[in-house]
Amino acid sequence: MLIFLCVAFCAGTARAAFINGQDYVPLADWAGANGLKISWPARNQIVLTNKNSRLVFGVDSAQAEINGVNVRLSFPAAKDKGGALIAQFDLNTAVRPLLWPSRYVEPKKITTICLDPGHGGKDTGNRVGWHYEKNYTLPLAFELRDQLKKLGFNVMLTRSTDTYVDLPARPEIANKAGADLFISLHFNAAQTDKDTVHGPETYCITPVGAASSNSQGEGADHAATVANRLEDKSLLLAYHIQKSLAQNLHAEDRDVRRARFAVLRDATMPAILIEGGYMTNPTEGKKIYDANYRKQMAAAIVKGILNYQKLTAPAVVPNHPAVKIQPAILSGTNKISNAKNAKKISRMRMRTIRN
Ligand SMILES: [Zn+2]
Repeated sequence: MLIFLCVAFCAGTARAAFINGQDYVPLADWAGANGLKISWPARNQIVLTNKNSRLVFGVDSAQAEINGVNVRLSFPAAKDKGGALIAQFDLNTAVRPLLWPSRYVEPKKITTICLDPGHGGKDTGNRVGWHYEKNYTLPLAFELRDQLKKLGFNVMLTRSTDTYVDLPARPEIANKAGADLFISLHFNAAQTDKDTVHGPETYCITPVGAASSNSQGEGADHAATVANRLEDKSLLLAYHIQKSLAQNLHAEDRDVRRARFAVLRDATMPAILIEGGYMTNPTEGKKIYDANYRKQMAAAIVKGILNYQKLTAPAVVPNHPAVKIQPAILSGTNKISNAKNAKKISRMRMRTIRN
């Protein structure tokens, strides 16, 4: 009853606001306009639901959960005396592309995938005792390459031996080859709380106007990068890989995050960076050093790529049995049939994208 009263009260009185340089809109209004019901199961927690989606926001927190996956927003959700507010910026750059990818993401076939095993040569990456990060990113890349090749993808690596490759050179390799995806592979290390910090994180480019959410993240005044052109797609890819990693490895979901990493900034294709877990955590570290676990991790990454591919694949129109083009239509004399067929094709494309 209390929850009901709060919802009724909150929904009617929140007003748009300008907070710390950002336009904020009442979450209840946005939810109502998009067919989502709003509730406050706890004092500082707001939940939006309909039959397809469940979104969870925290008051004064940039932490959100979008259909079961943790996503870092660029700005914290806020509360005024009338109810919850959300930054329009986050609706545009995080919520909408993930909820309705077919409206925001241009379909494109994935043929070639560029894998980037982090570090190499003189750059060891994180070091825990005698365990060097560079020695685990490379075998993970090999495992992932083998699994992707079996599915028919072309796979290329930015390094296939223990050699040093400059950070900006890595996306450049993918750009020159015309790769369709760029996936950088890393393992993490915590400075403190080593026993408690564990779980994968997946990064994509920070939207223009926001600060990054990695620990050394730059501020919001950073200029646009090449990668910002495809930031919705990169977010969608990061989301599906993070979801698959957390679910299939039964690991703690440490969020889809944003960073302007040098290996992401100049990529001309959807580009992400996976931190597959924390070497500094005694339990997770042991798993990372185990080839069997890396095999499971590669399989989880593959599943994430395939889920992303389902959402972004162009419709295969001409040979599809549902829209077999009749000779009369091909002759170009039957305008009505052509129009009907175009509608059919369009409907089929939407179905393909939404599945
Ligand atoms: Zn690394």
